[in-house]
Amino acid sequence: MSIDRFDLVKESFEKKAVPAECPEGKPSEYFGELVFDRKKMARYLDKDTLSALFDCIDNGKPLDRATADKVAEGMKEWALEHHVTHVTHWFQPLTEGTAEKHDSLIEYDGKGGVIEKFDGKSLAQQEPDASSFPNGGIRATFEARGYTAWDPTSPVFIMDDTLCIPTVFISYTGEALDYKTPLKKAIKAVCDAALPICKLFEPSVGKVYSYLGWEQEYFLVDESLYAARPDLMITGRTLMGHASSKNQQLDDHYFGAIPSRVAEFMRDLEITGHKLGIPIKTRHNEVAPNQFELAPIYGEANLANDQNQLLMNLMNYIARKHGFVVLLHEKPFEGINGSGKHNNWSLGTDTGTMLLAPGKDAMGNLQFVTFFVNVLAAVQKHNALMKASIASATNAHRLGGNEAPPAIISAFLGRTMTGVLRKLLEVPSDTPIEIAGKKGKNLGLVEIPEIFVDNTDRNRTSPFAFTGNRFEYRAVGSSANCAGAMITLNAAVAEQLLSFKESLDKELASGKPLNIAVMDVLKPIIASIIDVVCFDGNGYAPEWTEEARLRGLDTETSVPEMIKVFTRQESVEMFRKTGVYTLKELEARNEVKWEMYIKKVQIESRVMVRMAINHIIPAALDYKRKLLKEVALSQAVFGDTSGCSVELGLINQINSYIEEISAKAETMKKARKMANSIEDLYERAVAYHKIAEALNDLRRPIDKLEERVDNRSWPLPKYRELLFIS
Ligand code: ADP
Ligand code: MG
Repeated sequence: MSIDRFDLVKESFEKKAVPAECPEGKPSEYFGELVFDRKKMARYLDKDTLSALFDCIDNGKPLDRATADKVAEGMKEWALEHHVTHVTHWFQPLTEGTAEKHDSLIEYDGKGGVIEKFDGKSLAQQEPDASSFPNGGIRATFEARGYTAWDPTSPVFIMDDTLCIPTVFISYTGEALDYKTPLKKAIKAVCDAALPICKLFEPSVGKVYSYLGWEQEYFLVDESLYAARPDLMITGRTLMGHASSKNQQLDDHYFGAIPSRVAEFMRDLEITGHKLGIPIKTRHNEVAPNQFELAPIYGEANLANDQNQLLMNLMNYIARKHGFVVLLHEKPFEGINGSGKHNNWSLGTDTGTMLLAPGKDAMGNLQFVTFFVNVLAAVQKHNALMKASIASATNAHRLGGNEAPPAIISAFLGRTMTGVLRKLLEVPSDTPIEIAGKKGKNLGLVEIPEIFVDNTDRNRTSPFAFTGNRFEYRAVGSSANCAGAMITLNAAVAEQLLSFKESLDKELASGKPLNIAVMDVLKPIIASIIDVVCFDGNGYAPEWTEEARLRGLDTETSVPEMIKVFTRQESVEMFRKTGVYTLKELEARNEVKWEMYIKKVQIESRVMVRMAINHIIPAALDYKRKLLKEVALSQAVFGDTSGCSVELGLINQINSYIEEISAKAETMKKARKMANSIEDLYERAVAYHKIAEALNDLRRPIDKLEERVDNRSWPLPKYRELLFIS
């Protein structure tokens, strides 16, 4: 039986929008309905339990067993009102994505029946059978078991019939096996390092927060068409497919009207997200056809990251209700934009000061410049590591694709801040940094605007751009766990702030006033970064690679090589100093990363070869048979084939493409066999990197065939069908 592509296309085209399930009230009434937030805590816990829990959440104080039991009891009461029957620890293993293992709440009551039970122990800790999560040999060598432990700073929530408890996942010997553990450590490190500096400017500051506001890009494709593409189903991207005659060149999709089927999906997603406490704010069409974006209001980084993980799960599940499949892959279609997940990042204090935004007065501005410059210094020192943190087999297709940031980490400051930094190098250290316009026109002053209004000044080609009160890390992949990027950024900034504070203390000890001491330490830092990591030019320009190399920035493009940076001495030292990773953890994680890379390319290569042999060549042969019949008929009727030049030309082309495909597929199989025999993981990943490149080579003759073979015989939904039906 063969699937008729035209039936699928027709069916997809005729699908009607499914109305979203809209709740009765306003968003403010159902927001957080499915989250055990502070309001619910106050309702379901007694006063002492509540204050112990708040102390645990806000100040990291441990909870004793009896209090944990009471917290669990309150959660259970709330959950049962929502018809919950199961509970799970919800964690983020290194596979990317989330993991859960559901336990029913029932226990024997000793009288022949059951009761619903949930206690502090089950809340605090669980031992999932974890031996098959990737761990880079940690558990094999040391301790077979791993356990999950409750993260009280991220509230418990309900998904369907299950109470989900966000947890960390660690081995019994204490090594992190997940993303959350190091993220929490990095957030703490940056808070601890920033706090003493903030206190010099504002003594009442008690805590520094790391904020994250992610923007999630994604594609939607119709599920029937998706199901007819083995490559999409298995690898998340199309491994072949000729470009559609029209794709994004007219820019008619970006910010265009949202198609009604998609709009209903978005509405459903937002309502569910809001009930789960995810403050989704923005939705719009993206540049590529069938590409969209959504973004929440930013929040504390650990919680914001959990919410992004949760949202990615929700997207998949809600899309199916609307007959779509969500593609979170960084590059599902060749020739049009891929998807990223911009990570907007900033630091702020518990007194409400945003540390990457201008202050109220000269000292406030000096504090801003202090943090601003130190962030840039951290990014410069660890630019290779920043890139390694977002490197993956899938994101590799997007970076450097002339649409997304290049595989070089530089920072965009904008004209204003570049001017401010250059000026600071020229003026005496006691020159105040004033808000523009306050002191009239005075050329000697260093001035910054109160608010950066000039957003047109934004440079979309930069991977790390200052956008007025935050940096936007744009190189993060759409399918990634934001923690990868956020761990490195927060830890690197923490290390830099520690070193800055050390130098500052020396200056202060010599009796200098704060403003002069700060500027005296900042100046050499500014001088060392302004012409290195700071780059406002076109990141897509081919000359940039060479210039970046001359500036000493990392220009490596191979993912297996990038990963190596994690165990370079300066990285190991930075992660050790900030308490984020031990060497053992870094080595284990690199193994996981290489392994993931290998497996992903291996799967793609298998799918590619099978599709070439099982789908493409047979379709081409079918068409060739038709053409040959044509030619034979002509020979029979007219006694020659002089009227068959087109047919004969096509037959020749088809022959040569089929031969090319067959030969390349054979070579790829052999290359895989060779690669698989390599013992060392890094070396094997390098061999697989070559296979990844060969995938493009094998794709070319296939796409050429698609252009030539009779449309009716082509077995796979084409780009124009996948991208324009919604
Ligand atoms: P754009 O597409 O223009 O970059 P969006 O509105 O789509 O802007 O996304 C901006 C994101 O940045 C939002 O998630 C927003 O909440 C977040 N954001 C705004 N201010 C900050 C900040 N100070 N720190 C972190 N994230 C922020
Ligand atoms: Mg943005």
